[in-house]
Amino acid sequence: MRKVTIAKGDGIGPEIMDATLKILNAAKVPLEYEEVEIGEKVYLSGNTTGISSEAWDTIRRNKIFLKAPITTPRGKGYKSLNVTLRKTLGLFANVRPCNSFHPYIATKHPDMDVVIVRENEEDLYAGIEHRQTQEVFQCLKLITRPGSEKIIRYAFEYARAYNRKKVTCMVKDNIMKLTDGLFHKVFDEIAAEYPDIESNNWIIDIGTAKLANDPEEFDVVVTPNLYGDIVSDITAEISGSVGLAGSANIGMECSMFEAIHGSAPDIAGKKIANPSGILRGALMMLNHLGMHHEAATIKNAWSCVIEEGIHTADIYDEKTSKRKVNTMEFADAVIERL
Ligand code: NAD
Repeated sequence: MRKVTIAKGDGIGPEIMDATLKILNAAKVPLEYEEVEIGEKVYLSGNTTGISSEAWDTIRRNKIFLKAPITTPRGKGYKSLNVTLRKTLGLFANVRPCNSFHPYIATKHPDMDVVIVRENEEDLYAGIEHRQTQEVFQCLKLITRPGSEKIIRYAFEYARAYNRKKVTCMVKDNIMKLTDGLFHKVFDEIAAEYPDIESNNWIIDIGTAKLANDPEEFDVVVTPNLYGDIVSDITAEISGSVGLAGSANIGMECSMFEAIHGSAPDIAGKKIANPSGILRGALMMLNHLGMHHEAATIKNAWSCVIEEGIHTADIYDEKTSKRKVNTMEFADAVIERL
């Protein structure tokens, strides 16, 4: 049986991971799970990286990692484990599909269906940050030609594979002429190799405003790391809830799947979180592993639950919902419809 690594994470992580595993097991997905402890408990044990060398070995051995959100302790000395995982494992592409579920989940954008393809290793998240003087701190923005080529080509290949019509580049190259300018230049070069796919470019500020107002006008959007992080949260939220979107972090050797949201400490322990984000991340994992039948079966059952108005608190709306459920009741409703 194919082994995958799992981590239950922090905050709402264990609640939504348990719900997801219950659904995968009920659907008889042929996977075996090897659990690793990462995040808060490891940080608090004195390991400032948040991950042990045994956990690294397991993740590298199994190559596929389903990860619940983790809490990054605030302040100096703690590294973001999410950033470390993406960089160490070479997970260069972060793919975040965000579509609406009109008329079942309230949204102002019934026809939106956008995929954000975010560069995942470079930019201001490269971790080159230091103090210059007592009052001046500096964070360096790193954009490389190989990194830009890899993510932009991935976006066009993704568009071709999923029969999408257009790829949009978003950067701020009117100001950052060298770094964002390089990303834009590489985009134009690679776009010319894909005459079957429409391409265009927006400056990130007005592009994000357009995306928030008219998401229907966008299809695949490719951006450097920081813009992609922000834009994908906006896109997920306007589709209905940040709790709905899953995310794939793709590398040449390893891949990691997760929800796009964080550990939601404000609702942790209440057992009311929406497990859909991590479940949809898990479905991306099944498709990545070629388990298309299992992914489709679970997706159909999940869609039935959403369409029947069985909703967690974050998407509950008196006009569109029928029954408010907690995390495990939502999972059980999916299982009943498998
Ligand atoms: P968050 O995404 O955890 O929460 C933002 C808001 O959305 C909160 O009101 C929360 O209750 C709500 N929400 C999020 N997921 C939900 C769900 N599944 N169901 C219902 N409501 C949901 O963002 P934050 O509060 O800024 O971050 C909390 C922690 O998570 C921080 O430590 C941050 O570093 C971490 N984080 C981790 C990841 C990750 O592991 N990939 C991603 C983002 C943030």
